[in-house]
Amino acid sequence: MNKQVKTSGSQKQLDDIKQKILDDKVTPELAKGATQLVFGVGNPDADIVFIGEAPGKNEDLKGEPFVGAAGKFLDEMLGMIGLKRQDIYITNIVKYRPPDNRDPYPEEKQTFMPYLESQLEVIQPKLVVTLGRHSLNCFLPDLQISQVHGQPKRYKGRVYLPLFHPAAALYNGSMRQTLIDDFALIPAITEKITKS
Ligand code: URA
Repeated sequence: MNKQVKTSGSQKQLDDIKQKILDDKVTPELAKGATQLVFGVGNPDADIVFIGEAPGKNEDLKGEPFVGAAGKFLDEMLGMIGLKRQDIYITNIVKYRPPDNRDPYPEEKQTFMPYLESQLEVIQPKLVVTLGRHSLNCFLPDLQISQVHGQPKRYKGRVYLPLFHPAAALYNGSMRQTLIDDFALIPAITEKITKS
């Protein structure tokens, strides 16, 4: 298929999902307290999708996921494996900033899941990288991040790679190194999926 046509087609479908979240008036309480919807950015046909928890203050202001300190760290780790933000797609489970950066409530995560599923159906990534326990447990509820980080998990036709959240690892020396080490596995995992 002509990549140019496919790319613009996927982007249009993603734009439609974003509009649907607005039209459906998803989580009106969160929306009221937020500056804007933080939908997701990157390559609409990416091989790898990164999924965080929810936007923080910087993301809420800019309308883009992972643009604060955790995002800078994420960009650094992408650089270490030869990737740029434009090569991947990045989004969150919950797409409005929770007040005072509290953890998203279970019902907020559940409400956003069908939209996230639609995003993944459009992008069709080879690998879904979950960042932190919230993101992991939305897809694989029985797994513990401390036990499965860095281990690819195949589930219902998709491959997930659970990683620690960059914000949690940023200032914790040993977790930081573990995250960097786990990140370094991404190219080999993606290549293995391509061949399988
Ligand atoms: N943490 C997240 O989980 N997502 C962001 O977009 C920023 C920080």
